[in-house]
Amino acid sequence: MGPIKTTIVGSLPKPEWLSVPGQLRAPWRSEGSALKQAQDDAVALSLSVQEQAGLNIVCDGEQRRRHYIWGFIEHLGSVDFENPTKKKSRGQRYSQETPAPRVLDEWTWTKPVLLDGLRFAKARTDRQVKVTLPGPMTVADSVFDEVGGRSDADFAAVYADLLNKEARALSEAGADVIQIDEPCFNIYTDEVKDWGLEILERAFDGVTAKRAVHICYGYGTEVVLNWKKVNDDWSHYNATLPLIAESSIDQISIETAASGVDLSVLDCLAGKDVMVGVIDVGTEEVESAQVVADRIRHAMEHVAAEHLIACTDCGMVPRSRRAAEGKMRALADGAALVNRELGA
Ligand code: ZN
Repeated sequence: MGPIKTTIVGSLPKPEWLSVPGQLRAPWRSEGSALKQAQDDAVALSLSVQEQAGLNIVCDGEQRRRHYIWGFIEHLGSVDFENPTKKKSRGQRYSQETPAPRVLDEWTWTKPVLLDGLRFAKARTDRQVKVTLPGPMTVADSVFDEVGGRSDADFAAVYADLLNKEARALSEAGADVIQIDEPCFNIYTDEVKDWGLEILERAFDGVTAKRAVHICYGYGTEVVLNWKKVNDDWSHYNATLPLIAESSIDQISIETAASGVDLSVLDCLAGKDVMVGVIDVGTEEVESAQVVADRIRHAMEHVAAEHLIACTDCGMVPRSRRAAEGKMRALADGAALVNRELGA
């Protein structure tokens, strides 16, 4: 095994027998114990395809969540998804207003949400297991606080304390990596500096697992791809990464394959693990191992091989299973090519 490791950001497409494919927030096909069994089977399948592809750090493919945010926060309290209000979220990057589910009561954390799922995964693989959780800034931006009318910063702080209890429970149960997803760090760069990073670190307080943060330019969905086509400002990491370099975060996931990011921005992260996005999650086209290897070699000009984790740009839930499986194989094969060059 060479110095360069491999993993995916988190989500994988759901099998057609579990949920409607190709949709974010797609409805489940079954309920009750049948749904639980279908989710278990889908997680077992996800672990197996990641292992067969040759990935080093595996996860549940978010098969137990309809959506990376909603599938977690719905366990913390009452949220009205059916009658959302409109909110100027995501900095109005993708639309003027976005439907925001309404928070109807004060959230509490009474027991771990993802612990049984973690135990299930750990019992079925010998590889390192990563768990992904939605980040405070991104959750606050996505919901409407009907209970307290709090600012996003205040809501994020309250949520971060609940998230911390979850992260500690997962860490104590043997999660190797706990990744908190903060795509909004690539939007609200001033707020990251003012409160976002501090609150993220609070969510990790006492966590002994590797502390990871995923920061991207969004899923490979139509609205995001349309924005990327016209966007010419890729400077957001320049603002946030120097701050993260000074933080307790161990691993940072960066989108580079499908963005116009200049990789020299990674220079400030020396000593941290960098999950470099070398797979474009916005296309069905499967990259060749050579293309992936070229992207890894390019990243090695800025990240030491022993700190480089080759990764996808973002989650692959909008992709077909064929494309996602092909991309995971290309990811592992591309990393293996470079590892061989390094004498491994
Ligand atoms: Zn992402």
